[in-house]
Amino acid sequence: MQKPAITIIGAGLVGSLLATLLAQRGFPITVLERRPDPRKFGFLGGRSINLALAERGWHGLRVAGMQERMRSIAVMMRGRMVHDLNGRTNLQRYGRDDSEVIWSVSRGALNMALLDAAEAAGATVHFDRGLVSVDWACMDLQFRDSDGTEHSHHAGIVIGADGAGSALRGAMAAQQELGERFEPLGHGYKELEIPALADFPREQLPAELADALARGERYAIEPHALHIWPRGNYMCIALPNAEGSFTVTLFLPNEGEPSLQTVVSAKQAREFFQRDFADTVPLIPELEKDFVGNPTGLLGTLYLDRWHYEGRALLVGDASHAIVPFHGQGMNSGFEDAVELADLLESRPNDCAAVFAEFERRRKPNADAIAAMALENYVEMRDRVDDADYLLMRELDRLLADRHPGRWVPRYWMVTFSRIPYLTAFERGALQSSWLREWIDGVSSIDQLDLPAIDMQIRNKLDFLPTDA
Ligand code: FAD
Repeated sequence: MQKPAITIIGAGLVGSLLATLLAQRGFPITVLERRPDPRKFGFLGGRSINLALAERGWHGLRVAGMQERMRSIAVMMRGRMVHDLNGRTNLQRYGRDDSEVIWSVSRGALNMALLDAAEAAGATVHFDRGLVSVDWACMDLQFRDSDGTEHSHHAGIVIGADGAGSALRGAMAAQQELGERFEPLGHGYKELEIPALADFPREQLPAELADALARGERYAIEPHALHIWPRGNYMCIALPNAEGSFTVTLFLPNEGEPSLQTVVSAKQAREFFQRDFADTVPLIPELEKDFVGNPTGLLGTLYLDRWHYEGRALLVGDASHAIVPFHGQGMNSGFEDAVELADLLESRPNDCAAVFAEFERRRKPNADAIAAMALENYVEMRDRVDDADYLLMRELDRLLADRHPGRWVPRYWMVTFSRIPYLTAFERGALQSSWLREWIDGVSSIDQLDLPAIDMQIRNKLDFLPTDA
């Protein structure tokens, strides 16, 4: 049976993976992307921006046949390296061993690899085409290029993978109430860079790093970790890049003290870093330039009651459920969308209305769950990772995971190392966390706990979790 032609708006991470998966399944695919082709014109002005890729994201890449290509340029992160105010560090492993880790990948390299894959699978990608409006009566889409010239494209079915500010969402909302709600976090972010040792200005290279460079090392700090400088209401994180640099992200409230209103100038940025992140200062030689020159990013959560319109249009990825980045799951959940949608469309290629409704029914509760967990994780990362109660809860959580495999699984593991539905992780995680809090109440070490009683409660009250599909 002939498969319907599908138009995808946006060739970002989710749009290009979806284009690949659908083209591989024989759908005629056209993708229209607002930006120029990053393979010819570079990505984001050449800045190194990276993302944490976890099991759900790897699964999408595996289904598309891209795992090996990306694994070769991904950097393993075994845990959180927590930096305290005095510059002391402590590695908190994410999982039990190197099979339970997350990976840092370059956003640009991943996007370009996915574009190659989409085209290799037969998709046609047009760049420099920003969607402006949709004439729903005749399904004509209007685009504008960077010269201001208008182009039109006729579509049978259109899928919006055009990110948090989706133009397709705007066009759908003009036809039908989508129940859109954006909740700003009240915090924003700035990206800075720790260069690869070889790229440090020689006169600014601290002596111990000069020695490391002489020994052939490439990284200024431990490469196989996600670094966190938790400071209560704000924090810095740093993820490694394959070539030896780190992308540092400062998350700071929009208002108050300190905030993006009080740390503005180059001088204020240096003073703030010297006070709160002193060990990073010698590592960021262009601190002032990065801070003042790089844009300030906004953060928030997007909720929609409805993701589709009449079997003709559907939203995926950030276009329907943008979340805050503190669980590192925005792209990962968007990749799950892409796999689920490709499977549904393949099973019923000529009933898009049913497929879109089913997609929303399956994905939306999970999108809501990861949105909530991502918000909770911000508080955990910036405020709790060095707190004694938190560390005790974490120790018990992991001990119980060893004693009850498949039945007691720490929430972070469910979200990150498995494809257990986010909603299950959220609900089971809330229950486990309430029990953990109860058990450690008034206790200062694991030895003081009645472990046989705890084991009994778990065996009697918790079912085994679903294994991955
Ligand atoms: P986008 O990546 O935004 O892509 C949308 C595409 O559509 C772009 O190419 C854009 O140019 C194009 N477009 C936009 N408008 C139009 C238009 N009108 N016409 C045509 N094309 C258009 N997620 C993780 O999984 N792990 C992480 O570690 C992680 N870290 C993050 C850190 C930060 C600071 C932020 C802000 C986000 C992070 N995320 C992370 C989330 C992740 O970046 C997003 O979830 C992901 O990029 C969503 O992909 P997308 O394709 O849906 O949208």
